[in-house]
Amino acid sequence: MNYKTHVAGGLALGYSTLYYIDKLHYKINDNIMDKDTYIIVTVGFIIGSLILDIEHKNSYVSNKYKIISFISRIFLKHRGFTHSIFGVSFITLITYLSTGYLGVENRITTLLSASIFIGAISHVFLDMFTPSGVELLNPFTNKRFSFIRGKVGIPDSIAFLICISIFYWSLTVL
Ligand SMILES: [Zn+2]
Repeated sequence: MNYKTHVAGGLALGYSTLYYIDKLHYKINDNIMDKDTYIIVTVGFIIGSLILDIEHKNSYVSNKYKIISFISRIFLKHRGFTHSIFGVSFITLITYLSTGYLGVENRITTLLSASIFIGAISHVFLDMFTPSGVELLNPFTNKRFSFIRGKVGIPDSIAFLICISIFYWSLTVL
């Protein structure tokens, strides 16, 4: 899937689960989400939806952050660990710890980590609609998981349209 589809997927899953993010926010902040908080979680959805492809040579993020991508490619194979349940959890934990370490407010740290987690989940889910699938249980097994049985996956354009529609629908019920 290309980066536009992944961003649309991150926004779709993110905004359709916004109710729970808002609940989480209320729990830690005792207040409903304001405009700034919406911006933070939206940024989180987008980062989460793109970050996993850092180990893909020609992805949108790796072209932007060539050095980080180069280093990550030494250790990671494409759609391996980063695209697994453990990889997604690891990235979420790193976000949580590093933003906490930088002294970012606890409320922001939690919301950003949660939204990056959701964005990343949407990425893995979308990549499972491609024939090659993802190594969901890496590093325990290299078995690839895909919803597609044949050789043809869901085209990017169709996936993009579906995601954008879900995103708009979620906006209308906000
Ligand atoms: Zn991917």
